[in-house]
Amino acid sequence: MTAVAERPLGVYLHLPFCAQKCAYCHFAIDPARPSSARLDRYLAALEREIGGSKGGVADTLYFGGGTPSLVPAERIGALVGALRSKYELAPSAEVTLEANPRDLDEHGFAGLLEAGVNRLSLGAQSFDDAVLREMFRDHTGSDATAAARAARVAGFSNLSVDLILGWPGETRERFQTSLRRLLELGPDHVSLYVLETDGRTVVAHRAAEGTLRLPDDDLVADLFIEAEDALAAAGLHAYEISNFAKPGFESRHNLKYWDDGPFHAFGMAAHGFDEGVRYWNESTFGSYCAAMEARGSARAGERAPSPEERIEEAVMTGLRVRRGIDRAAFRARHGIDVIDRFGRALEPSIAAGLLHVDDAGVRLTRKGVLMSSEVLSAVL
Ligand code: SF4
Repeated sequence: MTAVAERPLGVYLHLPFCAQKCAYCHFAIDPARPSSARLDRYLAALEREIGGSKGGVADTLYFGGGTPSLVPAERIGALVGALRSKYELAPSAEVTLEANPRDLDEHGFAGLLEAGVNRLSLGAQSFDDAVLREMFRDHTGSDATAAARAARVAGFSNLSVDLILGWPGETRERFQTSLRRLLELGPDHVSLYVLETDGRTVVAHRAAEGTLRLPDDDLVADLFIEAEDALAAAGLHAYEISNFAKPGFESRHNLKYWDDGPFHAFGMAAHGFDEGVRYWNESTFGSYCAAMEARGSARAGERAPSPEERIEEAVMTGLRVRRGIDRAAFRARHGIDVIDRFGRALEPSIAAGLLHVDDAGVRLTRKGVLMSSEVLSAVL
C-alpha cells in the first residue's frame, strides 16, 4: 500500500437540540428546545471535549444536529474560538451550520457570520404546508423562503437548501411546485433526499403498519431525473447521489466523508475517523454529559477497520460521488485495482447499465444513481 500525503482534517460538532422530532428523523437528537441550564451543561461538556483533543490542521468545520440554529450565535462564536485554540483553521475554511427556517432573522444570520460561519444549510424539506405539518416540521414554506432571503441580505454567499422527495401522497405537481419555489431562492447547493422508510422513525413505523400512501417507485424515479435536469438548468450539477452544487460550491466537508478523508467529531453520538481508527461518543445527552463531567472523555468505542473493510468502505463511498472511483488513485491508496477485486460482484450492475467502467474509473450511470442501494449492496 502506498503512503498518502496527510490531508487537512474536517471537524464536526454535534448540537442535538430540536424543537420537536420530525416524522422521518433518524438522527441522534434531544427533542426539546433546550433550557438555559441544559444548553450550558451541554456546551460546557463540548468545550471540555474540544479542549482535551489533540487538535490539528483543519479546513472544514460543520455544525450539525439536531438544530444548531437553536443555539445562540454568540455561543457558536465561543465554540469556534475554542476550536481555534486547538486547531489551525485555514482562513479559507468552510464553516457550515445547519439551520431551521423559523429560528433566525436577518440579525440572527448576521450574528452567525460574525461568529465565523460562512455556509448555511437550510432545512426547507418541502414548500407545501400540508406536507410540512405531516412531517412535524415547525415552519411553513413561506418561512423557508423568508429565511433564505434574510440569510442572503445578511451576507451569506454560500447557501444550501434541503428538499425531500417521495413523501406519502407525492404528485408531480406538488413536488415540482416545491422545487420551483426552492429554485426561486437561487441556492448555491441543494441536497435532494428520497424519503427513507426504514429505521426507527414515525414514517418507518407507519410504513411497516401499511398505513402510508407511498408514491410509486417509477414516479419517484421520474421526478428525481426531472429534478436533476431542472437543477442542472439552474447551474447546479450533480456531484453526489443526493447533492447538487454550482461549480465551487460542493460541500468540502461532506466530500471528506465520501473521499475517505480524516475528520474529528465532538458531541453526543458523534463519530470521527483519524489515523485509520473510527471512534464514537456516548449516544445520549445524559450519558455524553455525564461521561465528560466524570472522566473528561465521552469516547464510547473505537475500532480500526481491517484493510479489507477500508477497501469496501472506499468503494461504497467512492461510488456515491458522481465522478466515481479514480482507478489509479484507488490503486495508489489501496494497492489493488477496483475492477480486479470487485469486477465479478459488479458485473450484473455493469451489464444492466447501472455502472460505467473504463480504464480511468468506475461510476454510477444516471440509471444507476436511482438504484444505488442495489449496486452498492453487491460490494459487501
Ligand atoms: S430538525 Fe433535523 S435533526 Fe431535528 S428532528 Fe427534524 S430531521 Fe431530526
